[in-house]
Amino acid sequence: IHPELADYYSELHTRYLLSDKIGEGAFSYVYKAYDSKDCRYLAIKIIDKSNMKPDQISSTLKEVAIMRHLNHPNIVKLYSYQNSSDSKYCFLFLEYVAGGEIFNQIIKYTYFSENLTRHIIRQVAFAVKYLHDNGVVHRDIKPENLLFEPSTFIPRSKEDQLKARRKSDDDNKVDEGQFTIQNGAAGIGIVKLADFGLSTLLQTSNSLAKTPCGTVGYTSPEQHMNIGYDKKVDMWAIGCVLYTMVVGFPPFYSNTQDSNDITEKVMKGDYQFLKPWFDEVSDGCTNLISNLLTVDPAKRYSIEELLSDPWINIGYESEKRVD
Ligand code: ADP
Ligand code: MG
Repeated sequence: IHPELADYYSELHTRYLLSDKIGEGAFSYVYKAYDSKDCRYLAIKIIDKSNMKPDQISSTLKEVAIMRHLNHPNIVKLYSYQNSSDSKYCFLFLEYVAGGEIFNQIIKYTYFSENLTRHIIRQVAFAVKYLHDNGVVHRDIKPENLLFEPSTFIPRSKEDQLKARRKSDDDNKVDEGQFTIQNGAAGIGIVKLADFGLSTLLQTSNSLAKTPCGTVGYTSPEQHMNIGYDKKVDMWAIGCVLYTMVVGFPPFYSNTQDSNDITEKVMKGDYQFLKPWFDEVSDGCTNLISNLLTVDPAKRYSIEELLSDPWINIGYESEKRVD
C-alpha cells in the first residue's frame, strides 16, 4: 500500500489492483492499476484537493468535465471518475498508455528523425483538430503530456539497420537496433494527448479565454502579454514541440532559474535555427516551425493550415485525410 493512499485503499482495492506509480505532479499521483471488473489495465490519477486553492479545484473540475466529453484515438480516454468518500481526493480512471511520455524518448534518443517527428506531430495535430473543432483549447501541449503506445517490432536486416542510423558526426547517433518498428523508430506507435488540467471549453469559436496560465518556455507571446488568447496558443506549443523533437532542445530556454528572459524572448519570437544542429534539418521542416512560431496569432498557422502543410504530408500523400 502506498502511504498517500493508505486511507483510501479499501475504497479502491475491491475493484482495482494498484501497481507502480507512473507519474507525480504538484497535486496528483498517477498509478498503473488493474481493473478486475473490466479486466484491463488503467491509469488512476489521484488528485489531492486538500491543499488546493479554489481556482486549482475548479481547474480539476474543468479537466474532468472536458475529458468526459472527448472521444478520439489520439486523446487519453477518461473512463470514469469518483471522489473519495471524504471528498479530499478525486480519482480519475484513465485509459492506460503503456509507452509513457514522448519526453523520455527524446531524452533517450537525443533527437528524432524527421520521419519519426512527422509520425508524432501528425497524431498531435489530429487530436488538436478534434479539440479545436469542438471549441476546446488544450493550453499545455508539451512532450511530458504526449504519451505513446509502443509500436510493433519487426526484425530487420543488417543493411536496413545501417540505413536507419542518422548521418551524424557526433557521438549521439541514433541506433535503432535490430528491429524495424512499424510507423517510425524509437518504438512510438499511437500518440495520445494527456493532461487537460489547463484546458478551457470555449463558449463560442471566436471568444477568447483570458486566464494567464500554461508552461513557461512553451507559452505563446500573447499568453505572456495577458491580453486574451485563443486556439492559436496550441499551435505555438506544437511549434515548440516540433523544434524540440528534431534537435533535442527547445526553441526558448534559459540556463538560469529566471523565467523573465524566456518571457522576453518568447514575446519577440526571438529564437534561432541553431547551427550545427539544424544543418541536417530540411527546409520544409524549418519553414513549418517558422509558421507555427509566428508571434502574431492572426498570422500563425491554424490547425487546418498545419494539416495541409507540405512537410507534414510527406509520405502520407496517398492517405485519405483523417480528421
Ligand atoms: P500533471 O497534472 O501532474 O502533469 P498528468 O495527467 O500530466 O498530470 O500525469 C502525470 C504523468 O503521469 C504523465 O506525464 C505521464 O507520465 C503519467 N500518466 C498520466 N496519465 C497516464 C496514462 N493514462 N497512461 C500512462 N501514463 C500516464
Ligand atoms: Mg502533465
